[in-house]
Amino acid sequence: MTAAGDPYDGSPVAALRRIAFLLERGRADTYKVQAYRKAAAAILPLPADEVAARAEAGTLTELAGIGASTARVIGDAVAGRVPERLAEAEEQYGALPASGGEQLREALRGDLHSHSDWSDGGSPIEEMAMTAMELGHDYLVLTDHSPRLTIARGLSVERLTRQLDVVDAVNEHLGALPGEFRLLKGIEVDINEDGTLDQTEEMLSRLEVRVASVHSKLRAESGPMTKRMLTAIRNPWMNVLGHCTGRLVTGNRGTRPPSQFDARAVFEACAEHDVAVEINSRPERRDPPMKLLELARDIGCLFSIDSDAHAPGQLDFLLYGCERAEEAGIEPDRIINTWPVEALLEWAASSVES
Ligand SMILES: [Zn+2]
Ligand SMILES: [Zn+2]
Repeated sequence: MTAAGDPYDGSPVAALRRIAFLLERGRADTYKVQAYRKAAAAILPLPADEVAARAEAGTLTELAGIGASTARVIGDAVAGRVPERLAEAEEQYGALPASGGEQLREALRGDLHSHSDWSDGGSPIEEMAMTAMELGHDYLVLTDHSPRLTIARGLSVERLTRQLDVVDAVNEHLGALPGEFRLLKGIEVDINEDGTLDQTEEMLSRLEVRVASVHSKLRAESGPMTKRMLTAIRNPWMNVLGHCTGRLVTGNRGTRPPSQFDARAVFEACAEHDVAVEINSRPERRDPPMKLLELARDIGCLFSIDSDAHAPGQLDFLLYGCERAEEAGIEPDRIINTWPVEALLEWAASSVES
């Protein structure tokens, strides 16, 4: 089985974070989960005996960020009871509904696609990093959106520059030593309509891993879409082709058919230019569809199994991607996140150097 995330150790902070993790993994709306994460953040800096005293006196709700229901969770935890809300969430979301993929999941060392609240994610960078660490990852690549995706608060050069400093600070704070968890610098850069990438070369050169995806004009004709994707794949900065068809198969955003493009030409270009094809693990994406996954397999592409997490609990989506990769019979050594982080970084840098 996969790592269980951040299991409940009896402390109120762990109870609140575990509830949030489970709800996110169950794809609850981020705003419904926020209360638990905010309450955890509110009591984290307080001494345990102060939290206990406030629970006893019924004054927890006087603290900013704590409401009646989160106070109840804290009260139960302090009193040594399993909070009711936690038991419910465990019951509902405690097990991932996947059939297979466990062995491959064990072999994954990290995740190349994740979002923080700097773009359209729901949690701060450090919370994403912390949860990735608790899941047993060696690394997490932070890949917030690029400037033109304004709807997702894509990062300008200035904001990305600041974010890189924050990544350094988070790594310092986590005490990143060789062989321990690392937060890596990345981007999910838009593939513009003309196939160029939506960030300056200067900024792309400062990143360690670059995922590139199409987010606009998804219904374009096959000809222009193929040309657009091929231009991007030939760009030496591109490492991973994100959710290649853009389809949505389920979920509250509705469904969307896959984009039309010459898949053989695109995957052959990926193989030639050493761009990995992403297996996007999000349940509403399941991208690429199985037929395309098999085509990319036969062409000899590399793959990256990514969570595309927009909340900490969604980092656990990886099992779904593993289930599909296993079903397609893709060998683990062709999946770049089974590689040691040093090999991954060397690979990501090599297309630019050659
Ligand atoms: Zn995307
Ligand atoms: Zn994404």
